Amino acid sequence: MSAESVATTRYARSLNQIERARRTIPGGVATAMRAAQRPVPLVIERAAGSRMVDVDGNEYVDYVLGFGPMLLGHSPPEVIEAVREQLGRGFTYGAQHRLEAEVAERVVDAVPCAELVCFSTTGSEAVQAALRIARAATGRRKVIRFEGHYHGWLDPMAVSSPGTEPAPAGAEPPLPPVPATEGQADASGLVLICRWNDPDELAGLLERHGDEVAAVIMEPVAANGGLIPPRPGYLERARELTGSQGSLLIFDEVVTGFRLARGGAQERFGVTPDLATYGKAIAAGMPLSAVAGTRAAMEVVADGRVPHVGTFNCAPPAAAAAAAALDVYRARSPEMYEGLERTAAALADGLAGAAAEAGVPLKIHRVGPLVQTFILDPETRVEQYADTLAADSARFARFAEAMLARGINVLPRGWWFLSTAHTDDDVELTVEAARSAFTEVAE
Ligand code: PMP
Repeated sequence: MSAESVATTRYARSLNQIERARRTIPGGVATAMRAAQRPVPLVIERAAGSRMVDVDGNEYVDYVLGFGPMLLGHSPPEVIEAVREQLGRGFTYGAQHRLEAEVAERVVDAVPCAELVCFSTTGSEAVQAALRIARAATGRRKVIRFEGHYHGWLDPMAVSSPGTEPAPAGAEPPLPPVPATEGQADASGLVLICRWNDPDELAGLLERHGDEVAAVIMEPVAANGGLIPPRPGYLERARELTGSQGSLLIFDEVVTGFRLARGGAQERFGVTPDLATYGKAIAAGMPLSAVAGTRAAMEVVADGRVPHVGTFNCAPPAAAAAAAALDVYRARSPEMYEGLERTAAALADGLAGAAAEAGVPLKIHRVGPLVQTFILDPETRVEQYADTLAADSARFARFAEAMLARGINVLPRGWWFLSTAHTDDDVELTVEAARSAFTEVAE
């Protein structure tokens, strides 16, 4: 059977639904991130634990996990129970409710930098809030960010994100911001771009522009652009340099928060920023995000210089989910994190073995329960965004499609999320599928 006829039989209902959606939704998908899935962006019927079922009745072991929120797997019972309980008492009040402080207290308890917490709905908004707070707190305008990191879709941060062209090797920072899409406001002069993992480059940039720089923002592990960990000492150096220049250090922990450890990357690496942003796992799949920070940094919100607003900020159902999820993370620490680490390590080892058997070069990064696979000679050094572009991404996307046909859902860009619901059997099934999918894409 041709690939096309497989698609039209196995994924017939997904195809139909996408056709229908295209008539009223541009491109047929609600977030362009999903458009890359081949042979068709899946339409899902239901999800529980490590599994999702699509509208054609195909079941998948899921490594997308809603792009990360579902750290406890899909439909976690403790969270469902808490949300259900809240739904009977109202959706949103335009007034305070008890869960707000309960969630903030849990964040303060878990996160080293957190003394005060503000809430929003999405990660992009949390980043926007953190930057505004940093500008107000320092009286400065500019922000340093890193090539290949991702901080959401809002202007002016959606520049030099994964998927954009990197600056030529040797170009001196500030590198020109490369917009991720057309239609963006001009970020030049406002956002200074630097390469990741080069402490001297960051030091030089701060030396030249430090007195204008409100904040240096980073994913403390460059999760979106290749899961690139910081070199030893790099976060410490960034902490020192920002401190001495009077700029705030912001960790964007939308991915790493509550995942690399209960206290996120800052706990795992022992480096405490001034501000940190959270989304995804904070509410185990309900829309809630947060900025947490030191009292000194957050004082501008407390004293009213930065009124922090939003109709749905800390909406009760999302707050109920967050309180329940944060309780689970605390009650099950440290075993939960050790278990996630073991499952992810087993997956990474299994994939490495399957690729080697098929003669496919596979480079693997793993940090905690996050895994990134590149079709690339495993000896290649990948320490900056530009290094990731040597990987054969088209071939990995073909592998992802072959995995989907075998009941495994993995992002076409090779980023794997693990949850507490993934079992050894799931990993075994996945590695079995990978053996034949790698053979299919071997050259
Ligand atoms: N920061 C990081 C590190 C992210 O990974 C994301 C989302 N992938 C965002 C910010 C933006 O979050 P949202 O999509 O919820 O706006």
